[in-house]
Amino acid sequence: MNIVIFGPPGAGKGTQGDNIAEEFNFFKISTGDLLRNEINTATDLGKKIKTLIDKGKFVDDYTINTLIEKSLSQKKKYKGLIFDGYPRNITQTKIFDGVLKKYDQGISCVLSLNVDKDSAIKRILGRQTCTECGLTFNKFSNTPKKEKHNCDPKYLETRSDDKEDVVKNRFMTYEKETLPVLDYYKNQKILYEIDGMSEIASIYKEIRAIIQSLDT
Ligand code: AMP
Repeated sequence: MNIVIFGPPGAGKGTQGDNIAEEFNFFKISTGDLLRNEINTATDLGKKIKTLIDKGKFVDDYTINTLIEKSLSQKKKYKGLIFDGYPRNITQTKIFDGVLKKYDQGISCVLSLNVDKDSAIKRILGRQTCTECGLTFNKFSNTPKKEKHNCDPKYLETRSDDKEDVVKNRFMTYEKETLPVLDYYKNQKILYEIDGMSEIASIYKEIRAIIQSLDT
């Protein structure tokens, strides 16, 4: 069973993806995280990726699909995969279908988190990511309390692309390139629209119910 978690920047895809992964033993594949790992290797490709991400631009489809295919071919011990931040345009969506077929896999549901732009921007500006464990928190709405996070607070960082001007570019790209992907999955009747403006726990309750209804 594989899941795509969909939504604009700041919708809470990472947080909800982590919740699903923990409760249902899924493996979360975040293309943003994979790209940030590549940046940390300081290779030429990593440098190129950093320039694009810091401007709020997409990384090319070839690089993204190479990373996805590598992940798909490796993670076998989990109940399923959660794709966070992928596919992000129609070309990636079609390539993804082909790659899934090759590995005899499919998508059970696309969970779309709906949030309004202003709230999402506010969330992003409060976002903190732990460079040690990869979990994401928020200075205003989801602080890294001890019961949720054991790493030293020194590892909490603000992403270099979480600045107001870059976030606005990311939103423009989302509206132009990524939103059409929703119709593609709606036509396949696997799209579930979720109000992403409620509390994290109540959004997750809704997500859990959807997954349980499919997991029979
Ligand atoms: P995210 O962590 O999902 O917010 O992604 C951070 C940045 O990584 C995005 O703003 C893009 O620059 C890049 N990125 C992540 N996923 C993709 C993708 N599927 N296609 C192209 N670029 C991506």
